[in-house]
Amino acid sequence: MAPFIGIDLGTTNSLCAIFEDGQPKLIPNAIGQLLTPSVIGVTAADEILVGAAAKELAVVQPDRCMAAFKRLMGTNRRVQIGGREFSAPELSSLVLKSLKQDAEAYLGKAVRDAVITVPAYFNDNQRKATRLAGELAGLNVRRIINEPTAAALKYGFHDRQAEKYFIVIDLGGGTFDVTAMEVFEGTLEIISTAGESFLGGEDFTNRLTAWALESQKLNLETAEMRHPQLVARLRSECEAAKRRLAVESEATIRMPDLNGDIGDDPEILRVTQKQFDTLIDPLVKRLARPIAKAVRDSRRETGEFQNVILVGGATRMNAVRNYVKTFFGVEPLCTYDPDYVVALGAAVQAALISDDRAVDDMVMTDVCPFTLGVEIVKEFGQHQMTGYFLPIIHRNTTIPVSREQIVSTIAPNQREVLVRVFQGESRKVEGNLKLGELQVSGIPPGPSGQPIQIRFTYDLNGILEVEAFVPQTGKKFAAVLTQNAGTLSKAEIEKALRRMQGLKFYPRDEMRNRHLVLFAERVVGEVASFQRDELESGIDQFEQAMNSGDREWFEQSRTGLLTLLSTLGFVYEDETQEETP
Ligand code: ADP
Ligand code: MG
Repeated sequence: MAPFIGIDLGTTNSLCAIFEDGQPKLIPNAIGQLLTPSVIGVTAADEILVGAAAKELAVVQPDRCMAAFKRLMGTNRRVQIGGREFSAPELSSLVLKSLKQDAEAYLGKAVRDAVITVPAYFNDNQRKATRLAGELAGLNVRRIINEPTAAALKYGFHDRQAEKYFIVIDLGGGTFDVTAMEVFEGTLEIISTAGESFLGGEDFTNRLTAWALESQKLNLETAEMRHPQLVARLRSECEAAKRRLAVESEATIRMPDLNGDIGDDPEILRVTQKQFDTLIDPLVKRLARPIAKAVRDSRRETGEFQNVILVGGATRMNAVRNYVKTFFGVEPLCTYDPDYVVALGAAVQAALISDDRAVDDMVMTDVCPFTLGVEIVKEFGQHQMTGYFLPIIHRNTTIPVSREQIVSTIAPNQREVLVRVFQGESRKVEGNLKLGELQVSGIPPGPSGQPIQIRFTYDLNGILEVEAFVPQTGKKFAAVLTQNAGTLSKAEIEKALRRMQGLKFYPRDEMRNRHLVLFAERVVGEVASFQRDELESGIDQFEQAMNSGDREWFEQSRTGLLTLLSTLGFVYEDETQEETP
């Protein structure tokens, strides 16, 4: 059977998994790690770096790197990195391509088919942009599934006889998702989902970064523009402090100088867990609304959710755990590593699609996370008012689903109707997101009130198809929704593909060495000046040995560099210490 991979394309980290021998398994990347940071770098030699190497480079040369581009998916924004310009799907495609290569190296054969996960709250544009990213990476995207659904699939896979309600709380780097579901005799039914597309672990790091900058009388936004290197290094310090605060009661942050160097005798800021909790309290409070909404929409009582599953790296923060625990009155479950669950579930989904025997007793149903409909005009006596929203598919309807509504012309001899399609929960379209429009023409002359049937079909990928039918003429209008950010014509896709193919990638088999060099170069800015020379010459040595082809010298200089780094207090870990779950 052709390999079929599952991919968690995260804001912060991406992972790849495969269903093998009746189990989902994670695939290590070029440097032996399971998490590939979703970071892209363009080196001075115009080479593309993906993952951990790019993340190291981002600390020293933020203008050569980009992270969190998932937040731009579905927009038309283009970003400049190291003199090159990219769209969000192009950047995502570089991550996907790198994961695809990891899978190919691991499996020893070509990989094309993939399931890619997206936040439940991703709208149509964002889903299409994700699909496009897959295409640009040379993948055949068989299904787009919601991240919490994938997480539930992983839990459901191991607990098939269970009969219970689950709630999945996923706080990643940039998004927050809550999903309620029921498991009953191997059938996994999503009952409701809610979320926020701008709330994640990065906001917590930003809070801490802003706090640290305030102590220097600096403001985050201004500093980001004026002293990008300072902010990049400080953010990396704050990220580490945030993680320590998940296990310790106090952490320190070394204040870099304006050039982003930590150097001799830096100012040390101390932050206690209590201080941190106060600082992030406004963010923690924002968890309430989506959780309450998902519970309310599920028509269950809070107490019925005996299984609260934590997903996403940011759920490691104590304040988040405690909040969830208090809300549901139960200890949240993290039977499976919150970093891995989504990718593993995506591999289970791949197995379901390819009818793997190991999952033949499993069934999964998902829901549409938001209401979809069209704009209509309402009549109030003599007045006609535009801008009202007519829902066609209500949120939390089980998918796939196809629903029809009849609308009618509003003026005599109206020959055309512009069907404007929106998603959202607001009564008026101005409060909702416009997905596109469909021009219906050729309506025969006549009085107002001529019917037009509008059919919405929402498929398992969460992609919407709109059709309009004029009964009098028998004419059908199928919607390729126009004005859709993130979607491209065939010619544009070809062009983007060629552009992507023209990029030079840093060779995969040299990535370990390159990562070590970038790690060490990052450390250069964090040690005292008297230690710098030694470290720099260690890096030079290693680079020369790398290029010399002399195996013995290479091993020696590598060991030398690693030892030097660890005496300076920086332990380099290039292999995952854990067993693949
Ligand atoms: P995404 O799915 O958006 O890629 P992840 O699930 O990988 O995100 O979570 C990334 C976020 O989790 C980051 O903001 C990171 O800082 C945070 N995170 C990871 N580990 C920890 C930890 N031990 N303590 C606190 N936050 C953490
Ligand atoms: Mg995630």
